[in-house]
Amino acid sequence: MFSCTGYAATAADARLGPITLDRRDPGPDDVQIDILYCGVCHSDLHQARDEWHNTIFPCVPGHEIVGRVARVGASVTRFHTGDLVGVGCMVDSCRDCKSCRDGFEQYCEQGFVPTYNGEDRQGRGITFGGYSRAIVVDQAFVLKVPDKLDPAAVAPLLCAGITTYSPLRHWKVGPGQRVGIVGLGGLGHMGVKFARAFGAEVVLFTTSADKVADGLRLGAHEVVLSKDPDAMAREHGRFDFILDAVAANHDINAYLELLRRDGTLVQVGAPETPLPVSVFSLLMKRRSFSGSLIGGIPETQEMLDFCGEHNITAEIEMICMDQIEDAYTRMLRSDVKYRFVIDMASMPATA
Ligand SMILES: [Zn+2]
Ligand SMILES: [Zn+2]
Repeated sequence: MFSCTGYAATAADARLGPITLDRRDPGPDDVQIDILYCGVCHSDLHQARDEWHNTIFPCVPGHEIVGRVARVGASVTRFHTGDLVGVGCMVDSCRDCKSCRDGFEQYCEQGFVPTYNGEDRQGRGITFGGYSRAIVVDQAFVLKVPDKLDPAAVAPLLCAGITTYSPLRHWKVGPGQRVGIVGLGGLGHMGVKFARAFGAEVVLFTTSADKVADGLRLGAHEVVLSKDPDAMAREHGRFDFILDAVAANHDINAYLELLRRDGTLVQVGAPETPLPVSVFSLLMKRRSFSGSLIGGIPETQEMLDFCGEHNITAEIEMICMDQIEDAYTRMLRSDVKYRFVIDMASMPATA
């Protein structure tokens, strides 16, 4: 074992602060990573404050990790010391069920092991995430990061990026399609970028007029203010696909009405309470309403490679580790353009 500093929540109502973590020495299949940057996901905040009622304290959040390989185990051939690598929301799965064998570890029938607040499958305790100087991860869950991209702006691709890339790919979004992205936040801004890169006609839906210019700059062909009933009415029946990235409660039927026959609306934002769905919205035009969770390891690597080829990264605001509470407060106000990333050089050397 070796020790490193991390930033942890020790109780639901406690501010995050430095702690000393024990990390395992790399086994034959492990990669030890010196973390450079970690994105700040809404899940981090929910988990740190025990809003999902399953947090195990102390909790070290963070699942948008970019770093450099520091050490590798004897059986590791794909990674070498100094490589730029990433770790997303998962660090293990059963690797044997149909989903795992198909490369959809996020849908592992035994449940994947989350990067933090998860129980290690080998009995090594509870997982600690990327708000940390170092992490040790099995090579099967480590991703190669293209060297040409800004590593800080790559970090959010590991959760926000793949969460939007995967459904856009699965439903084959591309040229000739009119595609809606609902909400311009951490997820939505990546949805806009990917849908544009895939060749679709992209329409951003937002509640705030001050996001119109950003929406267009990030790749939307049009921006519709969803609070304007006339503007919404003009879009009825015009969309092949809609990706809804809004985590707050909202009227889903207003968006289902915008789909053409056989169109699909996929929810990636996760409102806490159930969304009432009008069945008439679905059956009148054989529309589908679906959901999607992050992406598997092969698809996450495909996404990172695609981002390298097309020079796609997230829009970020860099913070120091001790600014995390302010960052959470600002996230709750949607006051971030469009993802906070922690510069891990700012982590204290000792707790
Ligand atoms: Zn996340
Ligand atoms: Zn599995």
